[in-house]
Amino acid sequence: MIKDFEYHAAHDLTEALQLAERFGSRKRFVCGGTDLMVRLKEGLVNEDVIVDLSHMAAFSYVREESGIIHVGAGTRHADLAASPVLLQHGSALAAAAAKVGGPQIRNMGTVGGNVANASPAGDTIPALVVLEATVSIASIRGVREVPIIDFFTGPGRSVLKPDELVTEISFRGTGPQEVTAFGKLGSRQAMTISTANVALFFRFGADRHIVEARIAFGSVAPTVIRAPKTEEMFRQLPPAPSWDAVRGAAQMAWKEVAPIDDLRASAVYRREAVVGLLAEAAYETLARGAHEG
Ligand SMILES: Cc1cc2nc3c(=O)[nH]c(=O)nc-3n(C[C@H](O)[C@H](O)[C@H](O)COP(=O)(O)OP(=O)(O)OC[C@H]3O[C@@H](n4cnc5c(N)ncnc54)[C@H](O)[C@@H]3O)c2cc1C
Repeated sequence: MIKDFEYHAAHDLTEALQLAERFGSRKRFVCGGTDLMVRLKEGLVNEDVIVDLSHMAAFSYVREESGIIHVGAGTRHADLAASPVLLQHGSALAAAAAKVGGPQIRNMGTVGGNVANASPAGDTIPALVVLEATVSIASIRGVREVPIIDFFTGPGRSVLKPDELVTEISFRGTGPQEVTAFGKLGSRQAMTISTANVALFFRFGADRHIVEARIAFGSVAPTVIRAPKTEEMFRQLPPAPSWDAVRGAAQMAWKEVAPIDDLRASAVYRREAVVGLLAEAAYETLARGAHEG
């Protein structure tokens, strides 16, 4: 049985921040409720006050301003997946959102919830990491901005303080000669939590060499990680590399990830999975051309 809670709906940011200040660590935010409901049913929520953010109309948006993409924390996965702005200037995020759960989860779950939940398997997180996103965090004391890679401190843990909430995620939109991609392996593909996932960003030079590579993996370490040695391997590839060359570069990921055995997969399986996922995503991306959209 789910225990009783005191419930408060916030209708705007000021109200949310005042409720956060008033109840501090006694309260738990809820937005889409897809993660929280599972925890409530399992008796894993210690707080006794729920502050509902889902009535905050101005909390859901994707917009581009002077090359920066701004995503409201309350934006649902279905809206991210269909966003023309993201499909053109951050397609890895749209692709990741399209693979979160099934349609019902995507119609309820939000990007802010996915990030705040701080699961190493959260699908939007590797995409946001390769986009070098910034997380905007608000409290009654003001707003602070944290690079997404520094936001997570362990599985299910982040730098968020009890009176703080995530308001926005922003990043520089991809431009000409820049591409991003996302790949995921789950026991039932798009329906489930990732066994492993990968996101990549490539920027090409004039001769179609990869001059900048960013690669991030999820579900293979306590938090989502960047893979600098693997990125270096991709920078050394010739223009229009063969499948064998791409697969060879991706092989470095085997050494860079640090997965554990758990209910969803063994560590060895996950190491093999990230190599295959990365090689496939990278090869398809390189074949697609040098632009998003
Ligand atoms: C059947 C099922 C399948 C799923 N499949 C996937 C999947 O494939 N990939 C994946 O990544 N996830 C998956 N999930 C997990 C979940 O749907 C996502 O993490 C989703 O994005 C959570 O968003 P939400 O708005 O529903 O979060 P909520 O459940 O509302 O909140 C989650 C946590 O974040 C906190 N929170 C929410 N919003 C904020 C905010 N703005 N500021 C601060 N804290 C906040 C809440 O307090 C809570 O602790 C699945 C869940 C279920 C039940």
